[in-house]
Amino acid sequence: AATPATLSAISNGAKNGILFKGGTAMEALNRMNILYSDKTGTLTYGTFKVTDYQLETELLKEVVFMEQQSNHPIAKAIITAFKALDLSTIDHEESIKEIAGSGLVKGDLMVGKKNLFKNYEDENQYLSMHQKGHTIIYVGKSEKVLGYFALADQVRTEAAEAVKDFQKEGVKVRLITGDNEEVAQTVAEEVNISQYKANCMPEDKIHFIQRDQSMAKTVGMIGDGINDAPALANADIGIAMGGGSSVAMESADIVIVKNDLTKLFYSYQLSKKLKQIIM
Ligand code: ADP
Ligand code: MG
Repeated sequence: AATPATLSAISNGAKNGILFKGGTAMEALNRMNILYSDKTGTLTYGTFKVTDYQLETELLKEVVFMEQQSNHPIAKAIITAFKALDLSTIDHEESIKEIAGSGLVKGDLMVGKKNLFKNYEDENQYLSMHQKGHTIIYVGKSEKVLGYFALADQVRTEAAEAVKDFQKEGVKVRLITGDNEEVAQTVAEEVNISQYKANCMPEDKIHFIQRDQSMAKTVGMIGDGINDAPALANADIGIAMGGGSSVAMESADIVIVKNDLTKLFYSYQLSKKLKQIIM
């Protein structure tokens, strides 16, 4: 059972917007050596805006309809940008599948990251048209790319400070994201993270965590999405953004209620103080 000191630290956290689900996470956080962070919705606000697109109107309608089945931040941006379109001509019967961390499929129509289009190499055709740092979403049929969306997101104002606080304490912070290389690099630079990995599938995130655990590291993971849930469950300390998906919050040990990353460092300090008390 949790000691009175642990319970008091948990209650302090709760008053400051951090929910600890139990004493174990509170007592383990001070031992964290490595903190993996998701990008979209975690280091960034995850509120995308469509800045550019190229797609024939009927396909555009199909895609907007498909995105209505998804809670992904990218889906919200596409729905908002094209909310004036009349979708009544779209086939409402055919089922739509969401592939976590990749995109959506309806029949032979696909929308999402480049990896969905196995034979597609010529990404520069689209990427060269955009400044670095835009997320590019491809649309295509039977693996042939027919158009794209470019979307922009913003780094949270407190993200760089939170990263620096942990680095000062000797905690390594690494970025792992399902997004493309250019965006990963841009965000990593903005928040001063030197180690990042782009194009991660949910299982890649688990892989990095387990690799470090096998080297006796205590590993934290912070994320917000369905795609992060397995990694959050595998980490020694899983941390979810309160604004994220419910499955992420269920899989985590700690929830940052108002998405303020500086609160995570505050929790870390609580855990450090607690260690001094109970040792
Ligand atoms: P992150 O790991 O940075 O939080 P995700 O794993 O949630 O990013 O998403 C990775 C990529 O998968 C996105 O950048 C996008 O290319 C694609 N994707 C995921 N869901 C959707 C969707 N509903 N519509 C279009 N693309 C999607
Ligand atoms: Mg995310």
